Amino acid sequence: MTLSPLDSKTIIEPFRIRSVEPIQFTDMEERKRLLKEARWNPFLLKAEDVLIDLLTDSGTGAMSSRQWSAMIESDESYAGSSSYYKFDSAVRDITGFRHVIPTHQGRAAENILFSLMVSAGQSVIPNNTHFDTTRAHVEHKGGEARDLLIAEGYRPQTDHPFKGNMDTDKLESTIRDVGADRIPVIMLTVTNNSGGGQPVSMANIREVSRIARKYGIPFFLDACRFAENCWFIKTREPGFEHSSPIEIARELFSYADGCTMSAKKDGMSNIGGFLALNDDDMARQCRSLSILTEGFPTYGGMAGYDMEAVAAGLHEALDEGYLRYRIRSTAYLGEKLTDAGIAIIRPTGGHAVYIDAREMLPHIPSLQYPAWSLTNALYLTGGIRAVEIGSVMFGLQPDGTEREAPMELVRLAIPRRVYTQSHIDYLAEVVIHTYRQREHLCGYRITDAPSVLRHFSAELEPLEGDQ
Ligand SMILES: *Cc1c(COP(=O)(O)O)cnc(C)c1O
Repeated sequence: MTLSPLDSKTIIEPFRIRSVEPIQFTDMEERKRLLKEARWNPFLLKAEDVLIDLLTDSGTGAMSSRQWSAMIESDESYAGSSSYYKFDSAVRDITGFRHVIPTHQGRAAENILFSLMVSAGQSVIPNNTHFDTTRAHVEHKGGEARDLLIAEGYRPQTDHPFKGNMDTDKLESTIRDVGADRIPVIMLTVTNNSGGGQPVSMANIREVSRIARKYGIPFFLDACRFAENCWFIKTREPGFEHSSPIEIARELFSYADGCTMSAKKDGMSNIGGFLALNDDDMARQCRSLSILTEGFPTYGGMAGYDMEAVAAGLHEALDEGYLRYRIRSTAYLGEKLTDAGIAIIRPTGGHAVYIDAREMLPHIPSLQYPAWSLTNALYLTGGIRAVEIGSVMFGLQPDGTEREAPMELVRLAIPRRVYTQSHIDYLAEVVIHTYRQREHLCGYRITDAPSVLRHFSAELEPLEGDQ
């Protein structure tokens, strides 16, 4: 008897669940009341009133038993703790950078880097797409943040394997126009969060690095989702199919002079981050700055147990079984929605599925916030919390006027190792059911909002009663 091996089509969760957290079921009437009490803003809901929470993948992941046990063994010494040395060697093992400066999260690393690099009124920082905190830090220091994404990156329905790539012709012409002396650093975000979680190819990273070196400009990666990016390189870029994710990661980091990192993403931790770099003199200055806002350079705003969680998490994020499951489950959700006729940013990215609400709800004008309307409908229909990336988030201009955002998107961000396939199946049912009733969704108006980052605390009202 010869049995053939099973070529399984089902990609199962590569873990067993040994500790569970109950989630709260509510009915539609209750959700209507809760959302109304939250002024029709899902950010103002209590998390316990949400069934499946897809607000963000940042810091919301589940940790492994190995991470928890490392946390128990942590060393909480103020200076030179063994937890720091484990953290430092994990980061150096993967990135190869000589200096590792722990920070409490990613934006703190950005703050330190740009405090040193940006001269007010002078500096221009190129990136594929700046994440909102990155842009805010550049601008806060008086610099100009420029997004140089390839054209395909701006077309939701166009398929391209590496829609996060930087347009390297634009990069060179920017350097020539602005002058290399006014560009203190070139950034590249892997994967490109604000552009749909789309990856950057190794070829593009190599080319950006070559240009940076040619002009003598430091090149830093915003590395929050480096492991997911490595998986896309392995599965989409010729020549990498036989490399392991960690080998790909080491090559990817080898082209850069440093990186900023939020460990709340591919650090598989609930908090933490770091700044890593090669230049000795710059590292010295960064450490001095980090003492001001973060703490002593061997803990940088993290407890010893946080550093332990990140030290273990960075390698877990590069595990092939984990990455296959992670990227497949996001694609699985994307396929279900696409099959039902729902327009999403294609191909699906690593950490989230982005629904094109402008396409789904053509009867709602942008300044009546179609993506916001869909976000609320998903909560009312099935207790799902997503996030609007549209005109509520980006529409308010510095001069107080309103302009429609380039895209009206609803992001369904998938926390790491938290939800199972049946949660995802249920979620797809909720989205599809909502889609089938799309003509009944109505626009919204803002009744009260602050002038900056208004989406977090804005109060709204449906234009047709209680929806
Ligand atoms: C989350 C994120 C940051 C900021 O990290 P925090 O830990 O939230 O401060 C920076 N860049 C990108 C691409 C991110 O996704």
